[in-house]
Amino acid sequence: MAEIERVKCLIIGSGPAGYTAAIYAARANLSPVLYTGMEPGGQLTTTTDVENSLDYPDGIMGPQMMEDFRKQAERFGTDVRYELIAKGDFSGPVHKVWTESGQEIHADAVIIATGASARWLGLESEQRLRNNGVSACAVCDGFFFRGQEVAIVGAGDTAAEEATYLAKLCSKVHMLVRRDEMRASKIMQERVFKTQNIEIHWNTEAEEVLGEEVVNGLRVVNNVTGDKKELPVTALFVAIGHKPNTEVFEGWIHMNENKYIVTEPGCTRTNVAGVFACGDVQDDVYRQAVTAAGTGCMAALDAEKYLAEKGVI
Ligand code: NDP
Repeated sequence: MAEIERVKCLIIGSGPAGYTAAIYAARANLSPVLYTGMEPGGQLTTTTDVENSLDYPDGIMGPQMMEDFRKQAERFGTDVRYELIAKGDFSGPVHKVWTESGQEIHADAVIIATGASARWLGLESEQRLRNNGVSACAVCDGFFFRGQEVAIVGAGDTAAEEATYLAKLCSKVHMLVRRDEMRASKIMQERVFKTQNIEIHWNTEAEEVLGEEVVNGLRVVNNVTGDKKELPVTALFVAIGHKPNTEVFEGWIHMNENKYIVTEPGCTRTNVAGVFACGDVQDDVYRQAVTAAGTGCMAALDAEKYLAEKGVI
């Protein structure tokens, strides 16, 4: 049995939040150990061009950006490990976690930055054309389709918000709603209804994204009549919700009804002393690299203060 490892600052997750927390924690001499999880680099590794990051005036590919973040975190001494944290016990003053291979780690401070994953429809054509016209983030990718006709699937607040966002950039937005009503709040629905260039297709589902290399259409089906039609769109935005990666923390860390971690307003503290959360795992509204990085910085500063008060550093 491997010996229990003791660390001052454990960071779980390797998106912009986790790496930014690591850069700040390493520079504060907290000797952070970072576990990347199953998808090193997080959601940005599944995108192509990122044009809204301050650090890259000419834009950057998502995977390259995350590679740069990792290198910067390592440059200051972060111990980056390519494994998953599979179990946790946050009942005592020292926080216990176990890696997938069974290594037990005791940490004085834990920064949770495990992110959230977009839900997808599950169509073969959707996965094949991801990043070539199929996207789960209108704010990230809408700009690439300005002046064009696009479609969005979903009927919650995210879909309503993204549809109105896209309507400002695109010539027309087809909104596919699978029922005869929307789940979105009334005010968001009103905004959608009032936007001239959004056409709502009720009781309608996406059947196939058309195109070989890039999207050049979408076949949809009316689930009441069975009627099919093709929409002449160049992009499909999937806005059917996200799933925060919080299973490991269930029962220990307070979460909202959608399983996002709840942090105290204005900081990254959770209900457990010494456990902090940053990035998309605690943010179901903004979900941007820059906002995740911002809260990652906050988490490292909060952890440093906590460790100093506890006399660990
Ligand atoms: P939701 O879970 O609220 O909505 C998901 C939507 O996707 C539903 O309309 C659902 O349809 C639809 N959907 C799910 N699966 C499929 C599928 N396979 N095919 C077609 N449609 C599908 O997720 P959101 O991301 O919209 O919102 C998450 C949370 O964040 C909510 O609590 C929301 O209120 C909140 N939020 C708040 C915002 C704000 O206040 N500004 C902005 C964005 C989000 P159906 O209704 O039929 O189940």
